[in-house]
Amino acid sequence: MRHITTYDAPATGLRSIGDTSWHTRGVCHGMDPEDADATFFPLPRDHEAIAEAKEMCGQCPVRRDCLNYALENVLREGVWGGLTEAERRPWHDGLPQRLDYSRVIAFFNGRDVHLTESERQVVIDHAYVRGWRPDRLAGALQISHKHARDLLRQAANKVFDRDRTLGVPRRKTKRKHTTPATSRPAPTTSAAGQPMSRPVASASTHAPFGKAA
Ligand code: SF4
Repeated sequence: MRHITTYDAPATGLRSIGDTSWHTRGVCHGMDPEDADATFFPLPRDHEAIAEAKEMCGQCPVRRDCLNYALENVLREGVWGGLTEAERRPWHDGLPQRLDYSRVIAFFNGRDVHLTESERQVVIDHAYVRGWRPDRLAGALQISHKHARDLLRQAANKVFDRDRTLGVPRRKTKRKHTTPATSRPAPTTSAAGQPMSRPVASASTHAPFGKAA
């Protein structure tokens, strides 16, 4: 099951183990299961039960986590985060396009976030800009080294194309006359003029997965 959230509990450093500790902070926590079912899974026209559920959710401190949980686990039925099935439908349908920077920041802070397509792309772009190496991105996104390398190359190409389109001047590399050839910085373009992933000497391959540089 995917249940990845961005609540404030300390990061465990483990991936794929969903932290559902926010459940215990929900206003509905501890309700009798039958009462909870009747309240949070009402019939579509049971306005009384829907109003009761919304009132409880309105006072709930983990309302946002609850809504994220329902979206990420494709839980289309019932009231979650104060929204009914009908009210959540556009959120479910538009989930791949959702771009929530608080979730991206949470990911960089080591949180176990199930990123949407849009959020994942932002992470890849930032990883390139921050000079992440492929193995670090591979660990963070749980993909192969080759896939991570390809994604960083695509991000590099995107930046290269954008700068060329906008006419952004390329940075000049200062020549150090006294520096031996073996310690010069690696070129950012290949012989064919195509951009390459930027290596950063200080980026540690032993840094915790998901941590920002
Ligand atoms: S938002 Fe509503 S359904 Fe979700 S945990 Fe809180 S009270 Fe329960």
